[in-house]
Amino acid sequence: MSLLVTGSIAIDTVKTPYGVSENCIGGSAVYFSMAASFFTPVRLVGVVGSDCPFDLAEVFADRDVDLTGLEVRRHSKTFRWKGTYGDNMNDRRTDYLELNVLAEAPPTVPAEYKDSRYVFLANTAPALQLQLLEQIEPGVFAAADTMNCWIENNRDDLKRLLKKIGCLIINEDEARMLADEHNLIRAAEKVLDTGPSVVIIKKGESGSMMCNADGERFILPAFPAAEVKDPTGAGDSFAGGLMGYLAQVGQTDYESLKTAIAYGTVTASFTIADFSLQGLTSIDKTDIEKRFETLRKLTRF
Ligand code: AMP
Repeated sequence: MSLLVTGSIAIDTVKTPYGVSENCIGGSAVYFSMAASFFTPVRLVGVVGSDCPFDLAEVFADRDVDLTGLEVRRHSKTFRWKGTYGDNMNDRRTDYLELNVLAEAPPTVPAEYKDSRYVFLANTAPALQLQLLEQIEPGVFAAADTMNCWIENNRDDLKRLLKKIGCLIINEDEARMLADEHNLIRAAEKVLDTGPSVVIIKKGESGSMMCNADGERFILPAFPAAEVKDPTGAGDSFAGGLMGYLAQVGQTDYESLKTAIAYGTVTASFTIADFSLQGLTSIDKTDIEKRFETLRKLTRF
């Protein structure tokens, strides 16, 4: 079934103990699309400035990613982000964030995308996420991600967004910040009270947790990856694998969500093995299936 994503398309500079990757392609919508395209065709809605050094058509050349919704905006500048990871690879500092086009009007959803049944609002300004969702026909399965800067600076927009989505996929520190609650189960319950019927919390190398409005809980460890060079995009790839699988099977029930979390987990384990998109571009679907089976064996008892 049709899967639409909107989010950032970025010029990233990333520093980890394994090296520096300067001015490489990144952005939440880019990682998401690359990850989800292992499972289902993806429709990308995003905007870059005329300074964008990347040819997105080339980036996604051998993937089923439709770029009709990509806008190159004249006289605007592409979103830029720089992050540095500490020795333990869990702590990440944002060195700079230049919103540029993300602070402007949202890109338009092409008419032929309006019937999309699965929508992922990857990290970008919550006002843009809201405006995008308003352009889609009702009845979609809408999931969203957000992060600290939006929780701090755009909380009202975010509250409005939470009322309109079915699922929030968020990392643990941001869940605590959003709910103003340290305990993660209570934080998830507080978020569930504000709108979404499912909350999925990403906990980095500690795995993930799902809580729903019916009181069901599911936890899964991360895939035990031996190679970790650059965790950037892990969260977006997790969401991409998860939403890609849901759109592929056309289901959003609790059991399908559990399997989707496992696919999200293994997809993200490839992203972190290398800088930028290289961890995802150097594998095929068979590699994902092999790790999925390994994760299944590792967690069965
Ligand atoms: P993740 O590691 O999954 O959190 O995603 C990292 C990607 O998100 C990077 O490629 C960044 O360009 C992008 N990013 C960082 N901060 C933001 C933000 N505030 N809004 C949108 N995208 C962001």
